[in-house]
Amino acid sequence: MKSASFWLETAPTVSTTESALPEQPVDVLVVGGGFTGLSSALALAKRGASVALCEAGVVGGEASGRNGGQCNNGTAQDYAGLVAAYGEQKAQSFYQFYNQAVDSVERIVTSENIECDFRRAGKIKLAAKPEHFDKLVRTHEALTKAVDPGATLLDATALQKEIGSDQFYGGLLTPKGAQLHVGKMVYGLASRCLENGVAIFQHQPVINIDKTAEQNWVVTTPQQTINAKAILIATGGSGPGPFSWFRRRIVPVGSFAVTTEPLSEALCASLFPGNRSYVTSKNIGNYFRLTADRRLLFGGRARFAVSNPRSDLKSGEILREALDEMFPQLASTKIDYCWGGTVDMSADRLPKVGEHQGMFYAMGYSGHGVQMAIHMGEVMADMIDGKPVDCPWLTTQWPAVPFHFGKPWFLPFVGLYYKVQDMLH
Ligand SMILES: Cc1cc2nc3c(=O)[nH]c(=O)nc-3n(C[C@H](O)[C@H](O)[C@H](O)COP(=O)(O)OP(=O)(O)OC[C@H]3O[C@@H](n4cnc5c(N)ncnc54)[C@H](O)[C@@H]3O)c2cc1C
Repeated sequence: MKSASFWLETAPTVSTTESALPEQPVDVLVVGGGFTGLSSALALAKRGASVALCEAGVVGGEASGRNGGQCNNGTAQDYAGLVAAYGEQKAQSFYQFYNQAVDSVERIVTSENIECDFRRAGKIKLAAKPEHFDKLVRTHEALTKAVDPGATLLDATALQKEIGSDQFYGGLLTPKGAQLHVGKMVYGLASRCLENGVAIFQHQPVINIDKTAEQNWVVTTPQQTINAKAILIATGGSGPGPFSWFRRRIVPVGSFAVTTEPLSEALCASLFPGNRSYVTSKNIGNYFRLTADRRLLFGGRARFAVSNPRSDLKSGEILREALDEMFPQLASTKIDYCWGGTVDMSADRLPKVGEHQGMFYAMGYSGHGVQMAIHMGEVMADMIDGKPVDCPWLTTQWPAVPFHFGKPWFLPFVGLYYKVQDMLH
């Protein structure tokens, strides 16, 4: 078993050794080479801006290249809960923005000719308890009335046509959801960035940001200093550099995944006849899907811990147990890859977008960022360009998370709380 992201291991490597700085000041300096940064850099370069992008590690090396590869419509929270908390109109705008985000990914994949196994597979939320199915019934009613008329409720019998596990009491299918090979998407976006003149610098963490007398930004990495007219902070949940203001507002939470060896066609057909993306309804639940080469990618929070090689392997063992329980048919199937990553959680699990002291930012996707980060990249390009944007995540007030100073010491307690919730409800 390899302790590495399946996506990063099976995608071409991005080479940026030829990148040279355009004339300074550059129009925009992007900090962070995940989906937000790459998508924004591409959109800006395509409209003629000179763009430099600094990435602390390798492009896509954090959440964007380490996730579950699900590109679903729908928010991180349950839709009916959103309506109760924010009212019908706002909840609708949140949900519709996710629909748009999946459309944006599809459009970019097609127009930029990116080979990344993009597929509108649909997603099924699986009820792990009878009362969770009752909640799905309410969500289905709210969704079909307002924002997702194609959503379909599957009772336990109908679900048997979709999945070969006896652990679930029904499900909710939202057909607009998609899936993709995120490593290949990173490679595709980065390649198009380079072709359009973006100067990408890998292994160049931004360690200082200042202003010149002319009000340009001066951005320092260990290797160079870059002057820029505008800055986009696209650092996700990973946080070296002078970004303590953001670190106090984003909680970095570990999420973990494994992929099996390739399964036989017959096994795939019996276990996943619908070949969808799947998520379970528990707070500490799981997400899974088949890859294009028929491996099962199985992930989850597993433990409320941060990701590091030791933690990833421990979490991999927990995931293996959950996988065996759900699919005993896979008990003798080997695990080929095991990895972890950092989810950029905001306190209300809604994305955060705006300007702080003149620096533009987009982050806080809270585990639903494959589609939204790519979409927000384009929205941020409009914002930086001075165009009016219609984005429900725009925020002028973003309070710090109380008692959070960058290291999430409270995660084990949050984990315990959710474990108890899962036992009780
Ligand atoms: C295990 C896991 C599973 C997930 N599953 C899904 C899923 O199935 N579907 C879904 O929609 N979402 C999922 N997500 C969330 C999704 O991957 C993220 O929301 C999304 O990729 C965020 O993209 P980003 O570009 O904003 O951040 P990132 O991809 O984290 O990129 C930020 C980049 O900024 C760089 N950086 C940070 N500080 C600096 C600095 N000082 N200087 C230079 N560079 C810096 C980092 O190195 C990093 O590469 C998952 C996340 C994880 C971790």
